[in-house]
Amino acid sequence: MRGSCPHLDKALETGGRISRRDFLDGALLASGGLLLSASAPAQSMLQESEWTGYTGEGDYRLSAGNMESVVQSAHSVRDGKYDSPPSGVIDTGEFVDCAIVGGGFAGLSAALFFSEKAGSGATCIVLDNAPVFGGVAKRNDFEVDGHRLYAPQASVHFQPPYPHSFLKSVYDSFGMDFNAFKEYQTWQGPSPSIDLTRSPYRVLEMDRKTYGFYFGAKFGKSPGVWVVDPWGKNLEGCPFPDAQRQELLAWRQGKRAEPAWVYEYPGDEVSRRIDSITMEEYYIRTLGLSRESVRLLYTKDTAGGLGLGPDALSGFCVYAWSSIPTTDDSAETGWNMFPGGNSGMNRMIVKTLIPE
Ligand SMILES: Cc1cc2nc3c(=O)[nH]c(=O)nc-3n(C[C@H](O)[C@H](O)[C@H](O)COP(=O)(O)OP(=O)(O)OC[C@H]3O[C@@H](n4cnc5c(N)ncnc54)[C@H](O)[C@@H]3O)c2cc1C
Repeated sequence: MRGSCPHLDKALETGGRISRRDFLDGALLASGGLLLSASAPAQSMLQESEWTGYTGEGDYRLSAGNMESVVQSAHSVRDGKYDSPPSGVIDTGEFVDCAIVGGGFAGLSAALFFSEKAGSGATCIVLDNAPVFGGVAKRNDFEVDGHRLYAPQASVHFQPPYPHSFLKSVYDSFGMDFNAFKEYQTWQGPSPSIDLTRSPYRVLEMDRKTYGFYFGAKFGKSPGVWVVDPWGKNLEGCPFPDAQRQELLAWRQGKRAEPAWVYEYPGDEVSRRIDSITMEEYYIRTLGLSRESVRLLYTKDTAGGLGLGPDALSGFCVYAWSSIPTTDDSAETGWNMFPGGNSGMNRMIVKTLIPE
């Protein structure tokens, strides 16, 4: 087997030949690796509670996107359960040009593209089995002192597009003006302003006097305790063992055990080396953190954004966090959010599809 694209060859270092054995070894390693220290897939499917736990607050509470029922439905399709219509199905005589199952980003975008390409005469229906469309891009709603507050859940931020990019054309198609996100609403309450970040990610790294760490049962605290402005207090009052406290403070001050491994292009020797270890190992070696501290500092973001902990992700994910082409990928100015996260974007898509 031989790569046909010179750029790809360089990236994959396949100037030479890739033998069938190389290919099969790689595939076997990857699929075997997935099973290491994890339950076998069939076993995982049975752990229903992990799929159907707490789903948030408010209108979107029971709209959680792809869950265990989706896997079960897919298996039923595979097993031929729907090869013929189930008994009791009523033919309403309705006809649509396009039927889309699932009103998350994928389904709603499909409907948007369909409406653009097929023109005004064509009909399309989006079916969703949750109370509110939007899938994983959902939000929490709270009533506090007569005010309705929105908070994001799961899919939260988006980045500025390049001027003539596909992403820009998608934003334009449902009327999202990215420039509107350059200025955020200012604080209007009577109490002092709360210094908020634009994203729930990387907040552990940020300096905010209004932020706090909560220590619960895992840290032997019952009831739990809040330590407000923990970095400003040099972690005083945080129930970390002294060695870990010192280590975290050193991390915070940017001290490293060794320089970051810098690669020239994805696929070169350095990037392959990074890819051959987990993110956890990479951070242990370069940041000089203990395994426990890596898990403490990074699991929240990697699990939330990539679905796995640093112990399971490739070290290369440190660099490949976002594959979205953007003019600004910084947490301070690049990442942007509607108050209810990406539910705002899905609501704009639906408003474009159904203007009234
Ligand atoms: C924790 C987390 C954080 C994320 N953060 C970001 C982020 O910050 N930015 C970003 O861009 N992306 C983020 N993502 C990724 C993004 O949310 C997903 O890529 C996106 O939601 C996938 O869209 P989807 O339509 O494929 O699936 P989903 O959003 O899961 O939508 C599936 C839809 O199908 C419906 N459905 C399921 N089964 C059926 C059925 N049998 N009949 C009818 N309807 C059905 C569901 O109710 C749901 O509405 C995040 C994902 C997660 C999990």
